[in-house]
Amino acid sequence: MTNKKDNIVSSSSDPVDSPPPYTPLPSQSRGAVPNETTRLYPDVPKNSYSATPPPTYNPPQQSSSVTAHYQPDTVVLSPAVSIYDLRSHPAVTCYPHCNQIVLTKTNFKIGTANLLSSLGLFIIGVTMWGCCLIPLCITDLKDCIHSCPHCDRIMARYSRFDGRVFKIGE
Ligand SMILES: [Zn+2]
Repeated sequence: MTNKKDNIVSSSSDPVDSPPPYTPLPSQSRGAVPNETTRLYPDVPKNSYSATPPPTYNPPQQSSSVTAHYQPDTVVLSPAVSIYDLRSHPAVTCYPHCNQIVLTKTNFKIGTANLLSSLGLFIIGVTMWGCCLIPLCITDLKDCIHSCPHCDRIMARYSRFDGRVFKIGE
């Protein structure tokens, strides 16, 4: 029995000696595998990331270039109209006196629409606190006076009462 135990001990002692050589082998293999994996992972993501971004970045650049094209289009929109087509806003028209295409300057003056509105309120009895004079201050009822920005001559008067344009000067 003791022999067997000794044998066992001796046999066990042999494996004890053997582990030291085993440990360096796994450590080398373990050390080599992580290095390969770490080399493989960073290489693959870099290639994948560098490949995908360019197609995603290109569309935004095209969209920004498209938005840049809209600005000159808006600037180009300025059709010249006849003096008799002037309304209550500044417009581009040809002024024969200066023989130039100009953007008219607009001023608003009390016209027939203001006077008739105030007269109507006065007739129906809206006179308290001077309420019948309120229409004289309403810009939407005033006539629009178009003048030349170069010589300040009055070009035309747009009447709100009947919507007609009265050519002035020349
Ligand atoms: Zn002028």
